[in-house]
Amino acid sequence: MTDHEPTEPATDESITMSNREPATTAETASDEPTGENADADADADADPDPDLGPEPDPNVEGGRPAIAATDLSHAFGDVRVLDGVSLSVAPGEIVALVGPNGSGKSTLLRFLARVRAPDEGTVTVASTDAGGGRARVGYLPQQPGFRAGFSAADTLEFYAQFVDEDVDVAEVLERVGLADAADRRVGALSGGMTRLLGLGRALVGDPAVVVLDEPASGLDPGMVERLFDIVSALADAGVAVVLSSHNLGPVERTADRVVVLDGGRFVADGDPRAVVESVGAADLQTAFGDLVATEEVTGR
Ligand code: ADP
Ligand code: MG
Repeated sequence: MTDHEPTEPATDESITMSNREPATTAETASDEPTGENADADADADADPDPDLGPEPDPNVEGGRPAIAATDLSHAFGDVRVLDGVSLSVAPGEIVALVGPNGSGKSTLLRFLARVRAPDEGTVTVASTDAGGGRARVGYLPQQPGFRAGFSAADTLEFYAQFVDEDVDVAEVLERVGLADAADRRVGALSGGMTRLLGLGRALVGDPAVVVLDEPASGLDPGMVERLFDIVSALADAGVAVVLSSHNLGPVERTADRVVVLDGGRFVADGDPRAVVESVGAADLQTAFGDLVATEEVTGR
């Protein structure tokens, strides 16, 4: 294990309560083996300062981003995963992060969700009145882990107790298409349904920023459409959304902006049409092949 835990939170504010997983909920099946819990505990010691947030950014609609990452660099041992990456996302904007397997998407999204800290760089999240001045980031990990014996509804009830406002769990389940599975044991849910439950967990407490790591993975085509409809509705309500996805058709239709990560850097960043036209491609799928084909991807 070449990875290490940060000793200092990288940000000025602690992560949202909805992302805190008390040790008793840790699942070994999670893709977060080093633990969101340890990081959350570290971040919980941070001194929240509601006045601090991302700096105004002339490239961001409305001026002030909901979340801003600046000059993020990170290596796992000898493998340099991110090399000075910056990303600002406006309220109501949908940014899709695409890139080959192993290009660092999940790593970047963990940094944005502030469940871990990069070697270098900063992530700042605007505070909102709705969160009692707290910065809010809802996070769906690539492989969300839950207690198998809890029902879907009980699972969300559990997380609901960590946010300040009342949470209508039935409404959250309805939003993510799991109303009929409310009483089903999480262990009996399919992979796709478990991901939808993870999306529900990310939405508990209505965070102003949601970070979704491959939310459409494992979903049938109808649910993929539904997933992107949910994402659109979130953005329409002013939520800043950052998601990774290999579903480039829906990404092209839904995202306001596509960033292509390869070789530790963004090799393209723009609205989907501009990214497609930049390489003279017919669609995002073809553009993706062109954009990453020229990059050397070794050992990943
Ligand atoms: P993606 O999500 O784009 O598939 P990841 O961010 O998961 O990529 O991984 C990027 C690279 O970092 C890969 O080479 C992966 O093996 C490596 N990596 C990711 N997490 C760790 C870790 N905790 N320890 C060591 N290497 C890691
Ligand atoms: Mg990943």
